[in-house]
Amino acid sequence: MRVLVLGCGVSGLSCGIRLLEAGHAVELRARELPPHTTSDVAAAVWYPYRAFPQERVTGWARRTFDVLCELAAHPEAGIQVVRGVELFTEPPPEPWWAPCVPGLRAATAEELMPGYSHGYSFEAPIIEMPRYLPFLMARFRELGGRILQREVRSLDEAWGEAAVVINCTGLGARALVGDDSLFPIRGEVLRVAPPPVEGFLFDESEERGIAYVIPRSTDCILGGTAEDGNASLVPDPAKAEAILARCRRILPRGAHFQVLEHKVGLRPGRPTVRLEEERREGHRVIHNYGHGGAGITLSWGCAEEATALVGPAR
Ligand SMILES: Cc1cc2nc3c(=O)[nH]c(=O)nc-3n(C[C@H](O)[C@H](O)[C@H](O)COP(=O)(O)OP(=O)(O)OC[C@H]3O[C@@H](n4cnc5c(N)ncnc54)[C@H](O)[C@@H]3O)c2cc1C
Repeated sequence: MRVLVLGCGVSGLSCGIRLLEAGHAVELRARELPPHTTSDVAAAVWYPYRAFPQERVTGWARRTFDVLCELAAHPEAGIQVVRGVELFTEPPPEPWWAPCVPGLRAATAEELMPGYSHGYSFEAPIIEMPRYLPFLMARFRELGGRILQREVRSLDEAWGEAAVVINCTGLGARALVGDDSLFPIRGEVLRVAPPPVEGFLFDESEERGIAYVIPRSTDCILGGTAEDGNASLVPDPAKAEAILARCRRILPRGAHFQVLEHKVGLRPGRPTVRLEEERREGHRVIHNYGHGGAGITLSWGCAEEATALVGPAR
């Protein structure tokens, strides 16, 4: 059976790899290839942000946590498992995703930043997308997969090439399958160096404005913003200043770094992730899109469920 995967972000590549490993013949088509996808802009740390529903997201996130930790053993994947802290100014409830993360505990006084009274401390994978996506592409090709850069305008066009299609087009699914429930959640980040801290730090409070610091091997991502419905890809210098000010709030005083890059991406927002099969006149499509701010966090769990929906290779 030949399977056609649409999309070369983290969702399409993870699905493609699992399908090839299951013995399917797989080709991938994408309008944009790395480094020009939303997945390239991701911070990226394992953290289930703006993805629903919680019950399904918990299963996908837990499975992905384990796979990313295994992949961290391969230096070329660009993954490091790092301890970090989510900061709060009031006692927080236990996070709903706590069952995914072994070893989550209350932060100690030494781990908290000035102005914060509480925190969770946990280890999570940090994924350097400029290294991870090429790693996934190489793995996909090594397993016999073929990648072609081409826009696909309809499912009928895709079914002209294969009876089974995996739709991993992210925000592109809005036009491809007419899904009006998809919306952009615009995010801006700054890439800085040298990394000013060893562990990640977040403050996800909507009232204060989100702030996160994600140290990588040679640089660090500072974020962020989350603007529903804004589809502009033009970096806003005022937003960059505001990100720096918010991150200074959670960084050690006097932290020194230089801004190297300012990037914008559009998270594929949706009331719920769409991971399901649709059948039409003898053709099949497995939809796998709408992962919001957690596409990397859910990638392997979703890829394995999509592969199970395709069924065994003949
Ligand atoms: C600033 C920012 C920070 C983030 N941080 C994190 C984080 O720390 N952790 C995390 O888990 N997530 C994070 N995310 C979210 C994450 O980036 C997304 O959820 C994820 O990248 C979605 O991946 P995807 O493969 O589904 O879509 P995409 O990466 O958007 O890929 C879609 C693919 O489909 C292709 N395509 C679209 N339409 C068509 C078409 N008609 N025909 C052919 N190809 C098509 C595109 O060209 C592309 O190749 C962040 C996002 C942003 C913007």
